[in-house]
Amino acid sequence: MPDVLVIGGGNAALCAAISARAAGASVMILESAPRHMRAGNSRHTRNIRVMHTTPQAPLLGQYEASEYFDDLLKVTGGRTDTGLATLVIEQSTEAFQFLRSHGVHFQRALSGTLNLSRTNAFFLGGGKALVNALYATAERMGIAIRYDAEVQSVVLRDQRIGFVEFQSEGEHKSLIPKAVVAASGGFQANLEWLGEAWGDAAANFAVRGTPYAQGKVLRNLIEQGVATVGDPTQCHAVAVDARAPQFDGGIVTRLDAIPFGIVVNVRAERFHDEGEDIWPKRYAIWGRLIAEQPGQCAWVICDKPATALFMPSCYPAIEADTLEGLAERLGLDAPALAKIVGSFNAACPKSGFDAAGLDGCATVGLSPPKSNWAAPIATPPFIAYPLRPGITFTYLGVKVDRHARVQDATDQPVDNLYAAGEIMAGSILGQGYLAGFGMAIGSVFGRIAGQEAARHART
Ligand SMILES: Cc1cc2nc3c(=O)[nH]c(=O)nc-3n(C[C@H](O)[C@H](O)[C@H](O)COP(=O)(O)OP(=O)(O)OC[C@H]3O[C@@H](n4cnc5c(N)ncnc54)[C@H](O)[C@@H]3O)c2cc1C
Repeated sequence: MPDVLVIGGGNAALCAAISARAAGASVMILESAPRHMRAGNSRHTRNIRVMHTTPQAPLLGQYEASEYFDDLLKVTGGRTDTGLATLVIEQSTEAFQFLRSHGVHFQRALSGTLNLSRTNAFFLGGGKALVNALYATAERMGIAIRYDAEVQSVVLRDQRIGFVEFQSEGEHKSLIPKAVVAASGGFQANLEWLGEAWGDAAANFAVRGTPYAQGKVLRNLIEQGVATVGDPTQCHAVAVDARAPQFDGGIVTRLDAIPFGIVVNVRAERFHDEGEDIWPKRYAIWGRLIAEQPGQCAWVICDKPATALFMPSCYPAIEADTLEGLAERLGLDAPALAKIVGSFNAACPKSGFDAAGLDGCATVGLSPPKSNWAAPIATPPFIAYPLRPGITFTYLGVKVDRHARVQDATDQPVDNLYAAGEIMAGSILGQGYLAGFGMAIGSVFGRIAGQEAARHART
């Protein structure tokens, strides 16, 4: 029997497993995916947000804790646990060094809408290279790894986990570890569960990451009365190209065109300020906004010059020489589209457009306004991309304390149960999202959970 059983095979699980093993515990990982699909959403990632008081290659300049925290407050609207958020921010530097010391290589951010060189360190080779490096470390350290091993239940008795049941090689098995780390992600791939919160709309969501995020362990723990945090409708959801696959489309299906165009729904109506803020701060609201529209669909409309300003889509643009032609190709009412574009163009200022930053080039007298980058859509061909909500991860999770201990309904820690990553991210993220914060939460809490679980197992 392992001292520490880690459930899940993504970044949070790997950070926990490596930390527990380094602290002297014997460790086993149970990953529900097969080997070629291992590492959940983590394999889709590109960067981690890191606090630093001096330049730390590849990170430029400084990113102090206070600025990091202010950025978080802005996107969450204050819906965060200050103590846990500060812990993640302050330990993000060490977590970054930890990843580096276990074979993860970093590179600087690209320019353009992804200009994050000061705040976010990018993984050289992307999330796949990151998880491959961590798996190689785990194997070298003698951590037992079981793929195709789905945990069915984590049985809570007398304030501690008694045993863990899982399915592997067609058989039902069980283990009695001394301590358990739950790092099995959110429930975003479980459309039935999403439907409980979102109704029929959930059927139109694209799940950007792993299909293995079924939330089985989370549901099981909730049913046994552990304390939860977060609201089941809150999640990280972006606008993806509506032609994206239902599952696992990854980063390339996201569309970054929104700040440089307008977004209309099936009635050819605008419904939100497309120019609220720059990409890393606002992109994660658009999935929710589109989910609230009829049919959960929308279109971003721009003109040819705007296409030079955002990362090209992996899907072809829908183009036409006239707005009427574009409306016809999209199945939208042509007079309604012409009217909305006309009133938008008339509300745009004559000058002041600057794609390089928040330019304050705002519409005048338009509702909803466009607060930045309001440039007329006037130079053919006219361009559109269809959009639908792309869910990244859910925020409903288990409640933890600063030792990553899962809390019960009376806010007492469950004796030998720890959690890290998306399954507890709602403890910190009440709403909104800051690019690179998911990996910061998973790496910091993964390390804490691993160390604490190993300490518990030894005593
Ligand atoms: C396309 C995309 C891009 C992203 N880019 C970034 C980024 O650049 N920076 C950033 O900070 N965040 C990013 N994120 C979010 C980031 O992926 C997550 O915050 C982070 O990876 C969470 O790590 P985790 O280990 O908690 O979950 P995951 O990596 O999803 O791992 C969960 C694991 O649990 C396993 N599992 C599930 N149920 C069970 C079960 N019952 N039994 C056993 N195993 C189970 C799954 O197979 C999976 O391996 C991105 C997400 C997506 C989808």
